[in-house]
Amino acid sequence: MTIDTCLQKGLLPVERARAQLLESVAPLRETETLPLEQARGRLLAEAASAQLDLPPCDNSAMDGYALCGDGLQFSLVGKSLAGHPYSGALEPGQCVRITTGAALPEGADRVEMQENIKLDDKRVLLQKAAAAGAHIRRRGEDVTSGETLVPVGRRLKVPDIALLAAAGVQRVTVLRRLRAALLSVGDELKPLSTPAAELGTGEIYDSNRIALRAALEELEIDVVDLGCQPDDPGPIRAAFERARDSADIVITSGGVSVGEADYTRGVLEELGQLEMWRLAIKPGKPFTFGRLPRAAGESYFFGLPGNPVSALVTLYQLVLPAVEKIRGADDELVRFQGRARLLNPIRKSPGRLDFQRGFTYRDGDGLQVVETTGIQGSHILSGFSHANCFIVLPRESGDCDTGDWVTIEPFGAPLT
Ligand code: AMP
Ligand code: MG
Repeated sequence: MTIDTCLQKGLLPVERARAQLLESVAPLRETETLPLEQARGRLLAEAASAQLDLPPCDNSAMDGYALCGDGLQFSLVGKSLAGHPYSGALEPGQCVRITTGAALPEGADRVEMQENIKLDDKRVLLQKAAAAGAHIRRRGEDVTSGETLVPVGRRLKVPDIALLAAAGVQRVTVLRRLRAALLSVGDELKPLSTPAAELGTGEIYDSNRIALRAALEELEIDVVDLGCQPDDPGPIRAAFERARDSADIVITSGGVSVGEADYTRGVLEELGQLEMWRLAIKPGKPFTFGRLPRAAGESYFFGLPGNPVSALVTLYQLVLPAVEKIRGADDELVRFQGRARLLNPIRKSPGRLDFQRGFTYRDGDGLQVVETTGIQGSHILSGFSHANCFIVLPRESGDCDTGDWVTIEPFGAPLT
């Protein structure tokens, strides 16, 4: 199906939807300053620079002997241990015992590993002269004082934290956490605290709110949980008003389809603007995007379909790229995709970009293979739970056969 046919059917192609979402949202740019210990995963808002050179002084890369000169015999005059430097200066033909990381004494110009020397009373004997500069870690060879260590926009990962800590950065200025208001809509939904035996016919647990909350918290987003609302425009409207006033983004699940009790879109149009509805994506066709203006500013609205697989797939594939932009990440979210050989046939009709749930691994011959994890209904959570990747089937493609090469997208956070 071409883009035009898609649009005629009222379905927005996913690539267009993503581009439109990214155009529609703007970065927040509000910052806070935190101790480095609390900054992992946060986006850096002000460049962090080194407070000192790294290494701060010339030091030894080995446990051994710091030597002055290229001779084969040295007289041992002392020691330099990590944290306990040798205070004197070495003359040619002198050496000190040295440990890894210990400061190189003045006059020392090379280090020999202890495995390569013989100790004869106070004399250190070598078979072969050590090369000038051997096993010395030079002051500033990693980082120079004042140098920018981590650029603005970077999400602080563990090696960044290690670098900043080593360079004496105690506090960092990061973008503030995003606040998301979360609510579910549906008369059939019951809180997880309800004993299973007390669920009436057709009642189910409000699992989306729990899964979405877990996903958002994993992404360092503060969640304002507005619970579950009935299929009734009055309470939905009141909840949207609270959501809009308390958060940067509003995420709902359920009630965005075309059923007679689907009020989400109607209320969105009443309180704000509907900007996107119905995408050529499977699962997740009823995905909705819009905005909810408030006294100052506005909240972005993401209406996820109620089906639990659809809710998570649309969160991952559509909401997250927009969220990255809103919270100020400098790069568009690019996910790793690869190719794998299909181990079972797949039925698919052309028309929508399909994110099937699959399990991928390397077989005995080292070939990347993938199989679908059971039936692919948008209510089948067990298949999602057993999967470790999406099998991404292009909008125009039809059925696939065993042995076909298909695109896979391994799950990343927060699906992992
Ligand atoms: P809807 O989008 O409201 O038409 O719902 C589609 C399907 O998802 C129905 O089977 C609902 O019962 C189910 N559903 C809706 N909301 C949730 C939820 N919060 N948790 C689990 N399932 C849900
Ligand atoms: Mg519903």
